[in-house]
Amino acid sequence: LEPEGLVEAERPRVTLADVGGLEDVKARLDAAFLAPLRNPELRAYYGKSLRGGLLLYGPPGCGKTFLARAVAGELGANFFALGLNDVLDMWLGESERRLHDAFAAARRAAPCVLFLDELDALGQKRSHLRHSGARNVVNQLLAELDGAQADNEGVFVLAATNHPWDVDTALRRPGRLDRTVLVLPPDFKAREAILRHALEERPIEGVDVAKLARRTEGCSGADLVHVVESAAEQALQESIRTNAMRPITMRQLEQAAQEAPRSTKAW
Ligand code: ATP
Repeated sequence: LEPEGLVEAERPRVTLADVGGLEDVKARLDAAFLAPLRNPELRAYYGKSLRGGLLLYGPPGCGKTFLARAVAGELGANFFALGLNDVLDMWLGESERRLHDAFAAARRAAPCVLFLDELDALGQKRSHLRHSGARNVVNQLLAELDGAQADNEGVFVLAATNHPWDVDTALRRPGRLDRTVLVLPPDFKAREAILRHALEERPIEGVDVAKLARRTEGCSGADLVHVVESAAEQALQESIRTNAMRPITMRQLEQAAQEAPRSTKAW
């Protein structure tokens, strides 16, 4: 296998409309990435290049990865994802190569979104770093972000972390990941939107989505999707047991909601 073959491109079909809540985050992503792409004349007029980096931060499971995929979906563009913990787990020298290959693949596929997850893995105190070559990885990433050897035109870098205070400050300087956006846990309205969306194409009966949204405070988007999936699982079991197609009931959803984790509470 070619090393570059390891960095796979995906063409996401999700769009920002699939992301529940987070209206101001979506507006910022639109202004940063989508509007410039839609307006080439304005871009030329103001001498604005088509590139840039942005750091998404917030508790786990609240849509950072989903947002990045949705930006690519909106652009009809390729999406590349790289988890920095995986990169750091590689042999010395391999990590830098992998990072370089990801950027090279992204440049060839531009316009595209390159998503860097777990960015804080690179920024922990030196003594805590898992391998001594991590400094080289940071330097490699800085060089790639700066486009030191090749032009990043059309490469939108979105990075994510649950621990923004651990992110190396050098990565946040102008021209790099110089904008930060907080991705908060879903509030009542967002929980309602996420639940509604997850239930959309499933058979339901007598379901009060607003009530469920009120009962799931502290749940992340991922927790909410899990609530709907466990209720669907219950309905499926019930159908097998009774040999009849049963819709998902409010009782099953409430039960699942009660048992669901509240992942954003600890953050
Ligand atoms: P982590 O920090 O753990 O990587 P994350 O913030 O990147 O988490 P995602 O991977 O984007 O979280 O979310 C996990 C799943 O939860 C998504 O694939 C999606 O199904 C669902 N989800 C999370 N947030 C939302 C949201 N705001 N709207 C719709 N679905 C969501």
